[in-house]
Amino acid sequence: MLTLDTPIIELHKFGVSKLSAAMSRKLAMAIAGESAKSDLTEANVEDLLNYFPMRYEDRSNLLQIDQLYDGIEASVELYTRVSGGFQVGKNRSPKAPPLYIFEISASDVDRTKKPVVVWWFISGRAAQNIINFYKEKFERGTRFVAYGRWEWDSRRNTFALNMKRPDELEVLPSPDDGLFDDPLVPATDVGDDPDAVDETSDPEFATIHTARRVPVYRKLGPFMTKRLREIVFGVIQKLDRSSVEENLPSAMLKEHGLIGRAQALSEIHFPPEDSTILEYESFRSRAHRRLIFEEFFWLVFALTLIRGERQKEPKGTVIEMPRPIRDRMNKIAPFQLTSAQERVIERIIGDMTSDAPMNRLLQGDVGSGKTIVAFMAMFAAIENGYQAALMAPTEILAEQHARNAERLFANTPYKVGLLKGSMRVAEKRKVHESISSGEVQMVIGTHAIIQDAVKFENLGLAVIDEQHRFGVLQRSTLRSLGYNPDILVMTATPIPRSLAMTVYGDLDVSVIDELPPGRTPIKTVVLGEDQRDGVYKGMVREIERGRQVYVVYPLIEESEKIDLKAATKMFEELRDKIFPKYKVGLLHGKMKTAEKEEMMSRFVSGDLNILVSTTVIEVGVDVPNASLMVIEHAERFGLSQLHQLRGRVGRGAEQSFCVLLTGDKKTAVAKERLGIMEETNDGFRIAEKDLEIRGPGEILGTRQSGIQSFKIANIIRDIELLDEARRSAETYLGAKRNSKETKLLIARVTENPRFGLANVG
Ligand code: ADP
Ligand code: MG
Repeated sequence: MLTLDTPIIELHKFGVSKLSAAMSRKLAMAIAGESAKSDLTEANVEDLLNYFPMRYEDRSNLLQIDQLYDGIEASVELYTRVSGGFQVGKNRSPKAPPLYIFEISASDVDRTKKPVVVWWFISGRAAQNIINFYKEKFERGTRFVAYGRWEWDSRRNTFALNMKRPDELEVLPSPDDGLFDDPLVPATDVGDDPDAVDETSDPEFATIHTARRVPVYRKLGPFMTKRLREIVFGVIQKLDRSSVEENLPSAMLKEHGLIGRAQALSEIHFPPEDSTILEYESFRSRAHRRLIFEEFFWLVFALTLIRGERQKEPKGTVIEMPRPIRDRMNKIAPFQLTSAQERVIERIIGDMTSDAPMNRLLQGDVGSGKTIVAFMAMFAAIENGYQAALMAPTEILAEQHARNAERLFANTPYKVGLLKGSMRVAEKRKVHESISSGEVQMVIGTHAIIQDAVKFENLGLAVIDEQHRFGVLQRSTLRSLGYNPDILVMTATPIPRSLAMTVYGDLDVSVIDELPPGRTPIKTVVLGEDQRDGVYKGMVREIERGRQVYVVYPLIEESEKIDLKAATKMFEELRDKIFPKYKVGLLHGKMKTAEKEEMMSRFVSGDLNILVSTTVIEVGVDVPNASLMVIEHAERFGLSQLHQLRGRVGRGAEQSFCVLLTGDKKTAVAKERLGIMEETNDGFRIAEKDLEIRGPGEILGTRQSGIQSFKIANIIRDIELLDEARRSAETYLGAKRNSKETKLLIARVTENPRFGLANVG
């Protein structure tokens, strides 16, 4: 009998679906690639069963021709009457290879109506051979099942089915003669796909493909869906079910209404009779629920475990918050904190004064006022005799933070040091020295801070601003540099709480879900190129009111040079032709630091009316007097990025505007996608939409971290199951921490190299 551990290269020994030794090897190779096994001998039955169908087709209900209607998707059992190929498009250019149509005219057994037509294109040099092959295969009387979308064909005056993949036609044994002797088809003759080998079309397997709901697989190496279906079917039949160990406690299964693992692995491939195609297509069958839950559970369980371990770590700092420190800290803010800010600072101070190191994610929409919270926490650390560091993703932002810090700390004895990658060596050395001597208490900079392995005298708190730009920064990176400080990461990417948990790993999450008072929501409009003149008029109007304007140009990495040129040209045109009366500045990432600083400070001071910029201003930049943002080629930006950009305006009490200009082409599509920006200022909703469109890795910048790639789960679609899995993980690591089940679960998750938990005891 087969077990989950049986190597794929040995499948032929078990007589699975007439696989040859060579084919087992090919399959092992493909599966190893798919499951990231380093060697094909390591690919096993479990990996194969983890190659889930991408969709399903309902072939359980065979229709008759008289039940068809235009556009229906259905399976029909047919008998060939005539078949043959003919050339089409004779007037194609002499160089184009000839194109043929192969057509089968077939009727159902009761001849309920006129015969239907099943057809597909054939091209290429071997077209004639392929036609001959199909003519033989579909000789008069051949019984087969055709599945797909039937359309009324008025030229043929009957229903027609255009097959994309003719190999998906199931040839059945003819009912009268049991001794069906169809020789196996020579591999290379099949279809027009040169890779499509091993299509046996053995009628012995025909019943696997019909009269049921069948799985459809992505092509795997040389294996097409039909052959994979036969193989998986054979494997499941020969699998020793008792060898499939249940890895979740039975109480957990019961509580969440989940089926067993063996049953799920079988049903995910071959839906049982009592299921519906709908629940399969929507990933809600009991097999899906079980497997998705399991996938989430292991991840969340591992993360919760790591977090628990971290909290046991000794921390290097002792922070206390007696009244006087608290009072001084509260005086830093030049305004009344929102209640959300107050709540968050309480949590942070709670973390900092506890025995466990802080590892907190502070999430708050653009403009919600995260910076002041960070400064207050830093002040608390400094008052306790430690240094505090703030890392920002861009130099512009680091400079802005430094300026603010100096202002806020003006009446304190503390010094702010600014560290940037672009500084001259001697300059840098001076800053480094003042940091290591403790002369500077607050260090603000770009990633240069960790890259240069700055020696702190005693780092107590590290704040990382706009975390999503950095990807996940591991605490271990800092620790490897010899610090074990409290860590606060801040992001404006608004993601659901349970999602943040999986994305940011072992972080505690706090949210600022309230904007400072007196903000008027930004008005956003999506406009086409034809409305450009109107946009310029709007710019004049804002400038005449004493306000300032951003014009943002996209800079896409692949074509950076061209884009930069376009941005520069745009700038020149605005400066010289359109707004000669006003002061226009240009800001982009390729400029020297001094130039950038100069440009930014001119804009901050109000000297510039218009700032033409690339996305370097995307994060954090804060100029409350700016009231209009014009984004060129808005269709090229992701929604979350647009939201970030838009957040540069609307920072004062007055009405601000954002204009999303789209190129004249594709305006309709772009408008549709960008419409959400007009509808809402809620970063959360926008992020969800963005997630739907682009997928999580793209937005959160965590593609490289690997841990988020799920086999079957989808954090958006399956958010409820993620929540259930999280609750379950918390129970087993909380109330049930000392149970036998929890010990087993810990052992299992520790064994799995995916979670890097080998050292957790
Ligand atoms: P973000 O969360 O996007 O980093 P900032 O920290 O840059 O937002 O804050 C945006 C603006 O709001 C800044 O000008 C800041 O001074 C101001 N601000 C923050 N908190 C408050 C508050 N409680 N009351 C009034 N203004 C505030
Ligand atoms: Mg910010």
